[in-house]
Amino acid sequence: MSKIKMIRAREVLDSRGNPTVECDVEIDNGIFRAMVPSGASAGQHEALELRDKDENRFLGKGTLKAVENVNSIIVPRAVGMDCTLQKEIDELMLDLDGTENKDNLGANAILSVSLAICKAGAAAKNLQLYEYIGELFGVSPCKLPVPMCNVINGGKHAGQENSIQEHMLMPTGAKCFKDGIRMISETYHHLAKLLKGTYGAGGTLIGDEGGFAPAQITDVNERLQMMLDAVDNAGYNGMMNIALDPASSEFFYDGIYKIGDKSFSGGEMVDFYVDLCKTYPIASIEDGLAEDDWDSWVEMVKKLGSNLQIVGDDLFVTNTRRIQKGIELKAANSVLIKLNQIGTVTETLNAIKMAHNEKWTAVVSHRSGETEDDFIADLVVGTNSGQIKTGAPARSDRTAKYNQLIRIEEKLSGKAVYPGRNFRNKTTSPLNLA
Ligand code: PEP
Ligand code: MG
Repeated sequence: MSKIKMIRAREVLDSRGNPTVECDVEIDNGIFRAMVPSGASAGQHEALELRDKDENRFLGKGTLKAVENVNSIIVPRAVGMDCTLQKEIDELMLDLDGTENKDNLGANAILSVSLAICKAGAAAKNLQLYEYIGELFGVSPCKLPVPMCNVINGGKHAGQENSIQEHMLMPTGAKCFKDGIRMISETYHHLAKLLKGTYGAGGTLIGDEGGFAPAQITDVNERLQMMLDAVDNAGYNGMMNIALDPASSEFFYDGIYKIGDKSFSGGEMVDFYVDLCKTYPIASIEDGLAEDDWDSWVEMVKKLGSNLQIVGDDLFVTNTRRIQKGIELKAANSVLIKLNQIGTVTETLNAIKMAHNEKWTAVVSHRSGETEDDFIADLVVGTNSGQIKTGAPARSDRTAKYNQLIRIEEKLSGKAVYPGRNFRNKTTSPLNLA
């Protein structure tokens, strides 16, 4: 038994300079801290992120109500409990909230406690966080993730409208995680040289996730070609795949998708992706279709699902009810996992479990508004999920996660497995997939 002696939440800043909730949990072993991230292209079906809406503080984005909900509602019930009772404490918070969407306490309030409790639980059991998550999840952690590194930021993360959001590189040809991150870092700097050479200093301004955000290139083909040129210049031809997150709910208007000045129906969007996959080594597309356009998702799986990883983010919002619907409809073959979309560690582990049971992949993800908290690095290894997306190899809110994965790989030593081209438990060709 390792009793919770104290829980305290406070308001701090995230990577965009917006307020967010931080929580400390004290047990005999020390104080354990967690911070909650925040999305910009957030899905409509996500659990509620409670903001104060007081325009006189942080332009309405304050989180004092969420902080107060922890300190005055959760604290009196959770202090004194055993911090290793993750499921029970998460369930207690769900009961205290009493709504489907965490409308009363806020998912940001609940998650701050859930994450900090998890870290305390690991310490109480004298385990590394990924080892403890492995115990909660029921696996022996050994799998490092293939990273999806967002080197060109578009859409909301780059102040653009009707634009594909994330253009990511996956070092599928690397031998281990650490080599993969080195390949990404070198390619990122080659990309900077190309962008600077073509567009001058403005070409290397960066977006919310640390990737370049050149306003001059709006066409996805040009962006992807420049990434492949950088891969070539770095000497990694054939060793990288591309992943895209169009975040298409952001450019979906009354049944019509708009990219730049072009308009597409759902079916035309699918054909657009079929063509892209013929030209570029694309291994994964997330949110290629909008969050409630289920029929087009089903069509995309029919046309591309055998070779391509089709990931639902806004579609599933880490929610087992929506994932179950996706499984029944065959609307995807992979789930993006974001802790703050659902609000507790236990529900997040259940979402990953549901995906794995269906032989779908689960991609653990950051948010565009991040913090220095690196919890997701341990989460992806602790669940043997095998893929993480956590931005460019730049800015400490992003590199914190990559650096923790380098440490975990070192700790796992001979036991560590890097799936590389086998990231979907199928061999993925580095060449064109369609
Ligand atoms: C995403 O859409 O996958 C993402 C990380 O962006 P955000 O956090 O803004 O939702
Ligand atoms: Mg997304």
